[in-house]
Amino acid sequence: MKISLLAIVIGITGIGIAAILLIGAISTNNEGISSVTDSNNRLTVITSVAPITNMVKNVACDRVDLIGIVPEGVDSHTFEPIPSDSIKIRGADLVIINGLNLEVSLERMVEASREDNPRIQLLKLADNTITPDEWIFDFSFPKEKGDPNPHLWLNVAYAIKYVELIRDKLIELDPENTSYYASNADHYIARLRALDEGIMRSVQSIPEENRKLLTYHDSWAYFAKRYGMKVIGAVQPSDFGEPTPQEVARIIDQIREERVPAIFASEVFPSKVVEQIAREAGVKIVETLADDVLPGRVGDYNHTYIGMMLENMRNMIVPLGGNVNALEDIDAGDVCNGG
Ligand SMILES: [Zn+2]
Repeated sequence: MKISLLAIVIGITGIGIAAILLIGAISTNNEGISSVTDSNNRLTVITSVAPITNMVKNVACDRVDLIGIVPEGVDSHTFEPIPSDSIKIRGADLVIINGLNLEVSLERMVEASREDNPRIQLLKLADNTITPDEWIFDFSFPKEKGDPNPHLWLNVAYAIKYVELIRDKLIELDPENTSYYASNADHYIARLRALDEGIMRSVQSIPEENRKLLTYHDSWAYFAKRYGMKVIGAVQPSDFGEPTPQEVARIIDQIREERVPAIFASEVFPSKVVEQIAREAGVKIVETLADDVLPGRVGDYNHTYIGMMLENMRNMIVPLGGNVNALEDIDAGDVCNGG
């Protein structure tokens, strides 16, 4: 008896919530243009990977409802949204993704959700940051497959462009908060400029012959181009599987030829192959590089895009023989926290 009564109560509550959601979803503003906002009139913004979520957070702080869809520590390249994500997307005003085909299944879900909510806007940051002649195709993202390397955000100059695009889109959709978004973005971009310069100087401290990257996951193409390093290879093939024994043998030869002191992997892509390569080539392996996983836990001071880049630089530059003294004064915290 108790159970069925509870079920009825849940049922009624469910209808109530649905009604509230519906009222929230079809509010109409003064100009007669309906906009999808929550009851506080705040924009609902959905993002994909954690670094992008953190950039949006630094521009919008608490003035939007921000939902990051790709869970922390999940491989963004093979991420598949779950059915409950589609409910979140249908209620969104704006979906901000990296683009360049990193989040194909999420894009498909946005397209499908537009049948119910045609006003959802989709902002693809990478597609608006560089033109096709600046796309980089390489080891895990070969030209014949058609998808360029999507990891623009590891180049801080491109990250600054991402932040400008985020700022402009938020202002377009929520002009009442123009000065708030603009001033947060200014503050944040100043910090990113310092990070960009600090990385530039730190890479310069690596002996020239060691400014080479061999990584498991091929995410450093745009970083290397900006900061003067050379990506000599990536272990992970373009299907995100494991390399063949022939490919492994070729990579080991290459490491010996290039005489790199260290090779790099990341915790998101655990691979026995990379350990084998390091052992046979006689080089150090650093397994802590991250392209979309923020350090620490949610709520930690350095659980930010800047925190991730600082951690990456310590883990990359020091084993290659350089130092990160130029990055000592960079503040890893979010600008919203008064930092
Ligand atoms: Zn990646």
